Amino acid sequence: MKKIEKAKKFLQENLDLFQCPICQESFHTVDGNSLICLGGHNFNISKKGTIHFLTKGVSNEYNTEMLSARFRIAKAGLFDHMLDEIMTHIEEKNGTTIDIGSGEGSQLDYLSSLGLEGKKIGFDISKDAIALAGSHFTDAFWCVADLAHSPFASERYDTLLNIFSPSNYHEFKRMLKPNGTLLKIAPDKDYLVELRNLLYRDREEKQSYSNDVVVAKFQEHFPDSHRYTIRYTFPLTLENYQDLLEMTPLSWGASEEAKEYALAHPLKEITIHVCLLVGKM
Ligand SMILES: [Zn+2]
Repeated sequence: MKKIEKAKKFLQENLDLFQCPICQESFHTVDGNSLICLGGHNFNISKKGTIHFLTKGVSNEYNTEMLSARFRIAKAGLFDHMLDEIMTHIEEKNGTTIDIGSGEGSQLDYLSSLGLEGKKIGFDISKDAIALAGSHFTDAFWCVADLAHSPFASERYDTLLNIFSPSNYHEFKRMLKPNGTLLKIAPDKDYLVELRNLLYRDREEKQSYSNDVVVAKFQEHFPDSHRYTIRYTFPLTLENYQDLLEMTPLSWGASEEAKEYALAHPLKEITIHVCLLVGKM
């Protein structure tokens, strides 16, 4: 089946997972290549089977080179061990899972390969990220969306994934089913530490990182939550290393000189150190 036909079928069968981001009414039908709400707003389904739910342009820092680099290094397995752990905390493997800030889609794709079935939706505010996801991964429904103008219906989701992306707890609680689970990944203090030390050789204050504020915020909204630490080192080929330098937000704040130095001194391995927060409704 063509991607657009597959997406139309998914939407027609799952209209209740969505709401209009403009008027919050339900969507009542898919007509031609449009998803239409009760208020008459319509959203076009692209050839790739994706939907653009943003009502105005939103800028973001991710360009296609960064997204492609992340795609390659994720395929190489950088996040596999972390995602293996996440998989063990997904209770409803046949339920409805949504990846919030899915990026280029590789994390939801990897979870599918581990046996995550059911309905899967990935969204990101970056249309370039969703274009990549839509062209590579056909096992989920992909859309461009912003939680501040949410196209997702209330109490319809069993599992929310929030991996390295900003949180909107008000929206998360609205979207989760009773008994639903929120799984959040935040960097921990030694996340990519080797790279940080290399990029910020002369700026000690940039070498350390604390997630205290992020964790406290999560616990404020989910007081009975559990916290797990995931830590491992991943061996890097030169190609992986170049991709890592390309994708990492850390390099945004580094000087050109520091980036050149880092390129000339490739790392052989990198530390992934994250905290997994699990909250239940
Ligand atoms: Zn509407």
